[in-house]
Amino acid sequence: MYNEQLSKPQYAGIGMTSDRTRRRLIDQVREMGVSNADVLNVMGSLPRHVFVDEALASRAYENTALPIGHGQTISQPYIVGLMTQTLLNKPRAKVLEIGTGCGYQTAILAPLCEKVVSVERIVKLHRQARDRLYDLGVRNVVFRHGDGFEGLSDFAPYDGILAAAVSEDVPQELLDQLAIGGRVVMPVGRGERQNLIVIDKTASGFVQREIEAVRFVPRLAGLS
Ligand code: SAH
Repeated sequence: MYNEQLSKPQYAGIGMTSDRTRRRLIDQVREMGVSNADVLNVMGSLPRHVFVDEALASRAYENTALPIGHGQTISQPYIVGLMTQTLLNKPRAKVLEIGTGCGYQTAILAPLCEKVVSVERIVKLHRQARDRLYDLGVRNVVFRHGDGFEGLSDFAPYDGILAAAVSEDVPQELLDQLAIGGRVVMPVGRGERQNLIVIDKTASGFVQREIEAVRFVPRLAGLS
């Protein structure tokens, strides 16, 4: 039987840099508007430097996006916090994440959900993130190499869907794979005109609202 207690990771500050550096980052994220205590706790216990190249490790506790190779970036901590708290306005057992990247957002979601399904189109990033999270003790994430915007019917329906790359529209597949009561959090737009949006699926239809202007790397088609 699926054992929730055993499968959710706990980081407890593994390999963390100084308390002060970590607290400063969490204070900034909180000041910008992330108030969910569970989200802040997980962010405060997860070492961010293990997600970036050694040459950038000294900048890992800055509240900025950083390059992770292949033209992609690790998301800004504030944005990760904002997206996570927006998605988890109520408990969401099964979450689909689109755009694993380095796995930082995945690692924040893992202790807060029962199961995370994370899809990445760049095979090297997919493998690196899978191995990195294994080393961090994460066992409740399914990693897939694929086009996440097509959804992943194997594990549908999802209680939550979160995308880390901007799309010009919300793919119908994602709405179809959402459970009733489920929520999508994703950036929508093009170029510099992007908004983080939230869509709730109710028994009588979809309710959509905008959260704030954001800046994400684009959704790309095909695998690499
Ligand atoms: N939260 C991640 C964000 C990485 S950037 C992190 O902090 O590391 C966005 C990611 O989305 C990139 O890794 C990019 O390769 C991926 N991506 C873009 N289009 C995609 C698609 N169609 N399917 C899956 N992943 C995609």
